[in-house]
Amino acid sequence: MEPFFRPWLMLCVAAFAAMAATTAPAHASGGVTGVAVSTCVRPDAKGLTAPALFRNPGEFNCSRKQIDFGRGDYWVLSGPLDKIPDLTRRTRVRIASVWQDSITLYALYPDGRILTLPLTEKDIGRHVQLGAIVEWRLPHHAQPPVRLLWHVRDSANLRGIVISPHLALPRESVRANLEMAAIYAAFGGLGLALLIYNLALWEALRHRFQLAYCAMVASLSLYALSSSGALNWLFPDLLNNDRMRVNYAMLATATLTAMLFARTFFEPEVTRGWTGRIVTAASALLLTTACLFVLFAPWHIQLFDRLYSWSFFGMLIAIVPIIVRARKQRSPYLWLFALAWSVPVAFACLRLAMNTLFVQWNFWVDNSTILSMSFEAIMSSAAIAYRIRVLSKERDEARTREMATRMLADTDPLTGLLNRRAFLSRIMQSEGKQMLLLADIDHFKQVNETLGHDGGDEVLRLFARALRDTTPANALIARLGGEEFAIVVPCNTGIDPDRLLARLRAARMPFDMTVTTSIGCCSGPLIGETDWKRLYRMADRALFAAKAAGRDRVRHAERIAEAA
Ligand code: GH3
Ligand code: MG
Ligand code: MG
Repeated sequence: MEPFFRPWLMLCVAAFAAMAATTAPAHASGGVTGVAVSTCVRPDAKGLTAPALFRNPGEFNCSRKQIDFGRGDYWVLSGPLDKIPDLTRRTRVRIASVWQDSITLYALYPDGRILTLPLTEKDIGRHVQLGAIVEWRLPHHAQPPVRLLWHVRDSANLRGIVISPHLALPRESVRANLEMAAIYAAFGGLGLALLIYNLALWEALRHRFQLAYCAMVASLSLYALSSSGALNWLFPDLLNNDRMRVNYAMLATATLTAMLFARTFFEPEVTRGWTGRIVTAASALLLTTACLFVLFAPWHIQLFDRLYSWSFFGMLIAIVPIIVRARKQRSPYLWLFALAWSVPVAFACLRLAMNTLFVQWNFWVDNSTILSMSFEAIMSSAAIAYRIRVLSKERDEARTREMATRMLADTDPLTGLLNRRAFLSRIMQSEGKQMLLLADIDHFKQVNETLGHDGGDEVLRLFARALRDTTPANALIARLGGEEFAIVVPCNTGIDPDRLLARLRAARMPFDMTVTTSIGCCSGPLIGETDWKRLYRMADRALFAAKAAGRDRVRHAERIAEAA
């Protein structure tokens, strides 16, 4: 792991720990609040009435699990309520929301009166509280009820008939809603922030996995909206069963887009071949079963729900070859992926076990997706940040390489000055009057003879450095060939060729040898090639004059022309 990344990761872990810590108190009560009520069940039959059933509690089955009764119409009777503390004030009857046609609550009072509170399919949606809890409000009576009885019509009985009934104080109910609102709002905020920053990043980087991630975050946010019951608060006329349809659809979409994310997050080689085929098959299966449930429930609802649940196993299994492949390919993203997804995958397994009935219904496992996906979201953000860092590092390296290549193509390898081609292409863009200086080292053949060719090279290098050090920053300097150099500077920069000559002469050379130079210069406009040819010819003539006059001196073309 890169050192830069470690503090980043620690920050994410700390953020999640803080989040987990703040939601921990909610764990104690959460959506399920109040005192639990025991239940017994009996299937409905013709002629059964609430008063008769209240009189004969012995006809109810209290040992068989609700789920084992299958789909149908049922009566569910509570145990005696007299042991429940503070019963008079416990006026909120809360049960977990499940698929059913209608549900009526009967409350039996000590004087034999029975209160009837019917909820049609439409009414149920209006009674949904945050955390997907259906709640009835009992009116205040001098005496609290002694028993409760529910009559459920066409219970799909996917997880139970009347699940987790509780009697809560009004303030417990309000508190549960507030706690759930805080959790879902935090998740919603997280989702929105992730969506905005990933879309902004996508705009800049255009990696496919970013879009998949955005789609996943969006469908998870919609999933949170429907699974929390908040959707019923937004649309009071929404049927509760339709809210569950949305819920099934969104969970499937979130999982499918998560798989698409995994597919695009790794290098293409990871999901090539049979790994890709397994992922496609698992995704197609989930899509099909989700469509079957969403479009046709309650028709064959138990079968479709079971198929839907099992197809999540397919998705979980499809992750295995991806991880194996990524490991084989030594993908640098694997450890990040594993870190981010281990918690959601573990919870998904637990939830699946619950849905396929190895584990009893539990509010927190049922709502685990929200919490584990919050963890995943924070971890994935870190993973995406890391991935982007790797990509931008690659991009920076490519840019540096390109610059180095261009430099290499433009410079003379011995001296590092511009070569003739680069020099010519750059001086043509010079605006205003320019001065061209041609500098040729005197008797360089002798230098070579004295120091050898390598020594001569060293003199060329030192000479080039002296040129760079003694000319203005905006000067363009090139080695035109051999021991001949050219300098172009704007005339208004004010370069003094004689001073330049003196400083070149003073430059430190091997064995403290004195190397002298002849300079020919001239000035004029330098817009196009014609200007260059004219200037060069004149400067060359001036250089020749300097050589002819005994070397180690400067000659100006203009002055030569005036003298002639
Ligand atoms: P003058 O004062 O008239 O300019 O005499 P000169 O000896 O400097 O000029 P001439 O053009 O006769 O010789 C240039 C020499 O520079 C000949 C060549 O061997 C040498 N030379 C050219 N390129 C290189 C190089 O890259 N490295 C070295 N060490 N010598 C070079
Ligand atoms: Mg020479
Ligand atoms: Mg020469």
